Amino acid sequence: MTTIGEFELIEQFFGGQFASYGVNLGIGDDCALLTVPPEKQLAVSIDTLIGGSHFPRNADPELIAERALRVSISDLAAMGADPMWITLALTIPSAESSWLSGFSRGLFRAAEEFNVSLVGGDTTRGPLAITLQVHGSVSPDKSMLRSNARVGDLVFVTGTVGDGAAALAVIKKELEVGKSAFSYFMGRYYTPKILVRQAQALATVSRCAIDVSDGLLADLGHICKASGVGAVIEAERLPLSDPLRKLCDPDTALNWALAGGDDYQLCFTVPPAKIARLEEIQEQHQIEFTAIGEIVRGDECVCLSGGRVVVPEKTGYKHF
Ligand code: ADP
Ligand code: MG
Repeated sequence: MTTIGEFELIEQFFGGQFASYGVNLGIGDDCALLTVPPEKQLAVSIDTLIGGSHFPRNADPELIAERALRVSISDLAAMGADPMWITLALTIPSAESSWLSGFSRGLFRAAEEFNVSLVGGDTTRGPLAITLQVHGSVSPDKSMLRSNARVGDLVFVTGTVGDGAAALAVIKKELEVGKSAFSYFMGRYYTPKILVRQAQALATVSRCAIDVSDGLLADLGHICKASGVGAVIEAERLPLSDPLRKLCDPDTALNWALAGGDDYQLCFTVPPAKIARLEEIQEQHQIEFTAIGEIVRGDECVCLSGGRVVVPEKTGYKHF
């Protein structure tokens, strides 16, 4: 590192934060030492975000960090897990104090919200890339697996879908919007609401969930593949936000809702016998979700509109 030494950098920007549950030893040694709550499984997920590819390189570092942690925590939420610890592998072109201080501010703001502590990492010089590993805990009987959908289950999605793709179009200036819509979509992109507590409540009636990151059809398709089932959802039922409806024509909105991605909502399935209990949970935890379809026999995941199959233009984000 040029302007500041590696260890100084770690101490200044990433050290000295609060310790969450089970941290026997945090940053500073060769490893962190951690204790998982008794009777629980460790849930682990890792994601890399490359500057210029997964986020604009010149974006506000505070927002980059905040978004990076939120979308990583989304994987834990989709599993029904309780977030506990994070590790960070950071590759930066140079050790610029103002960038690092913004980044660490955004990271720790989100970390505090989810009650996770940073317990280690790695810092290297190179083209901007952020790798975050998140660790959580979940009881074996409360984990929501992609492989647990069954024929006859109803399919639900939380919040609204399509906003993530719309937000990206707005950020890329492909669409012009007024001030309030701009701030709505900026919020949806950089600080998506991650439904950790709500997912844990849903895990009492749902054994199967996924977070919508690649696009609803693609992600529900992952559930279908893992469970050996098909799914039918209805276009007319898809929950769309008012800002999205106002932003574009209905076909574009539907396309983004089905194939956009970056929504970070939860798509989950519930057997008919548990619907009454699901409604109680919805009331009790104030969770917004919509029934959008059903799990069926077969291996196809389709969306119908007035009885006809809708084929979106681009199905989910493909990395390669
Ligand atoms: P080692 O050489 O044993 O891999 P490092 O010199 O890479 O250790 O890191 C020293 C300590 O600082 C370790 O505890 C490591 O987990 C932590 N660390 C390094 N980079 C970061 C970072 N970006 N964020 C948090 N902790 C970090
Ligand atoms: Mg190291």
